[in-house]
Amino acid sequence: MTAPATPVRRVDALVVGAGLSGLYMLHRFRGLGLDTVVLEAGSDIGGTWFWNRYPGARCDVESMEYSYSFSPELEQDWDWTEKYPTQPEILRYIHHVADRFGLHDGVRLETRVASAHYRDAEGRWTVTTEAGDRYDTEQLVMATGCLSTSKLPEIPGVERFAGRTFHTAHWPHEEVDFTGRRVAVIGTGSSGIQAIPLIAEQAADLTVFQRTANFSMPANNAPLSEQAQAERKRGYREHREAARTSGFGIPVPEATRSALEVDPTERHAQYESVWGRNLVGMLTSYTDSIVDPAANETAAEFVREKIRGIVDDPETAETLCPRDHPFGTKRPCLDSGYYATFNRETVHLVDLKKTPLTEITEHGVRTSEAEYAVDDIVFATGFDAMTGSLAAIDIRGRAGRPLADKWADGPVTHLGLQVAGFPNLYMITGPGSPSVLSNMMVSIEQHVDFVADTVAHAHTRGDTVVESTEEAEQGWTDHVREVGDYTLYPQADSWYMGSNVPGKPRVFMAYIGGVGAYRAHCEQLAADGYPGFAFSAR
Ligand SMILES: Cc1cc2nc3c(=O)[nH]c(=O)nc-3n(C[C@H](O)[C@H](O)[C@H](O)COP(=O)(O)OP(=O)(O)OC[C@H]3O[C@@H](n4cnc5c(N)ncnc54)[C@H](O)[C@@H]3O)c2cc1C
Repeated sequence: MTAPATPVRRVDALVVGAGLSGLYMLHRFRGLGLDTVVLEAGSDIGGTWFWNRYPGARCDVESMEYSYSFSPELEQDWDWTEKYPTQPEILRYIHHVADRFGLHDGVRLETRVASAHYRDAEGRWTVTTEAGDRYDTEQLVMATGCLSTSKLPEIPGVERFAGRTFHTAHWPHEEVDFTGRRVAVIGTGSSGIQAIPLIAEQAADLTVFQRTANFSMPANNAPLSEQAQAERKRGYREHREAARTSGFGIPVPEATRSALEVDPTERHAQYESVWGRNLVGMLTSYTDSIVDPAANETAAEFVREKIRGIVDDPETAETLCPRDHPFGTKRPCLDSGYYATFNRETVHLVDLKKTPLTEITEHGVRTSEAEYAVDDIVFATGFDAMTGSLAAIDIRGRAGRPLADKWADGPVTHLGLQVAGFPNLYMITGPGSPSVLSNMMVSIEQHVDFVADTVAHAHTRGDTVVESTEEAEQGWTDHVREVGDYTLYPQADSWYMGSNVPGKPRVFMAYIGGVGAYRAHCEQLAADGYPGFAFSAR
């Protein structure tokens, strides 16, 4: 006898992912009176801040900027303790938000979505979980995260290793003690750069395997004084507005001059003044920092000088100096003592450009030159960014067309929000939106609001289906590429370009036109009655 099929649950809206995006989407949809369910693969809410628990995990955007702005009461009531919030503090904040707005009961945890198929005739989606549960929904929102599908390096032998292995994005919930152990860290992107100084404090011996040297700046993190917090809270509304209209979602003075038109002493003083202030100050000092190689090189060399000034051993310092990509074209990092960590006698740097990793052995890590015996390996090897979590779901639109087919040569989207042929499917901070090139909180709120407002608009008209047109999608995708090509970003082999995943099309996936310009464009579309979107009823 075959088991009876699970009854299909019919809802108005289904959201995949219970991070900052999914939770706010739930709140907004509920506000529209839509019966909404959120499906989350993890065993708790929080997304990024649930999964990434490695030592030193912390946000590179200031806490008072990396927080929801939709509720003035929430932003007044919540107190942050540090300039840059730690992972546990952000997770506590997310739980506070979920408690405050009664969101927990809308989320089904430990539920991974396996497929989403559009039913043309009814204008609705069938969503199936890995456990085989099925949902029938009108609206489908992928709040699956830009950095939520982790990746291991493509080296043989990981399963052979006899010691402990960790991935920064799947860190155990209980504390990991490295005291007295020989540790390898593979990867020196944002997560590695945050974790390495803290692992070095405990480990008997730490070997860092670096494929790409990255640019990092000191976070200069500090406790948030009551006075500073109160001051920001007094001007919070204005500050939020400035963030929304800025380039990166972080208010900074607008550059007016080329880096090449000021004399070197003045330029040096400018870089000193923004060094260690925030994530974007170095990038936004001059109008051409990210478009002109010579202008960019002035910033890159300034950082290299800083590295040489911190790291005692000249050879190690040179290995840590980035030379294979323009400054800012890979995710810039903020650190707390990263470069100084290499002055410890117990810390060693291996340049994988010179001696590539060949395999993981039973006892450690082997390069083309030597085998390094270790007790623990930490993989800080990043993510299949922007498209990885979408590609992991079997998404099929009109006439059963797989999204994977449509995106075979790279993602095409309208505004990073929708894909033609996939009606009522929305992505939060999808490829083609400012997303990872911004303070993500600003982008997440803008996207969620746009989706909720669009759905509300459709319903007011008596329509149930919203779909971007092919023309609008092509126009936007061309625009994203043109703006990207105007900059130095495509020159880097970065995860922005998909370069860290073998076989992934090499396309600059984010929109670098700025969050302010992007928002203004979306607002204009809404004001003009949504040109580029087709509305219909089923
Ligand atoms: C270590 C780290 C540091 C970061 N630092 C910053 C920073 O300084 N500033 C900044 O702006 N941004 C930062 N980010 C980016 C961060 O991801 C975003 O700021 C934000 O948290 C994204 O929220 P989200 O809800 O869109 O996605 P996520 O938080 O990634 O949540 C997506 C959720 O979807 C779930 N999911 C995915 N696929 C499925 C499926 N098939 N079925 C069910 N559930 C699924 C995942 O389990 C996850 O919980 C950082 C990211 C990382 C990893």
